[in-house]
Amino acid sequence: MSLEPQRKRILVVEDDDFNLLFMKELLATLPVECIEARTAEEAMARARDSAPDLVLMDIQLRHGSGLEVTRQLKADGALQHIPIVAVTALAMDADRERVLEAGCDAYVAKPIDVTAFIEAITAYLGGEG
Ligand code: MN
Repeated sequence: MSLEPQRKRILVVEDDDFNLLFMKELLATLPVECIEARTAEEAMARARDSAPDLVLMDIQLRHGSGLEVTRQLKADGALQHIPIVAVTALAMDADRERVLEAGCDAYVAKPIDVTAFIEAITAYLGGEG
């Protein structure tokens, strides 16, 4: 594996083609490597094999639940340190609480506000990059 150490890896879990493309285009403006997953199963597999520095988690997946993936990641000793930012259209306060209770570290609402999205990501990627 040839890894560029300065490039952090972001696992983008998203089942919608448009949202995935949009987020990848935004992330292309940052010095990061993008890994994608479209299902809960793929998300767990990529989290294990790619050791991401950050996970962006769509909560409503057609194949599985982002909340369930979050709980599994946060219950796994090898993966629980990875920050998870929920990216979801769930807008009610109760839903927001549910997302944070499941273990997400932060929450970005859909439709995505570009500034808020980039700020949330850079905040969780740390300052050494
Ligand atoms: Mn979705």
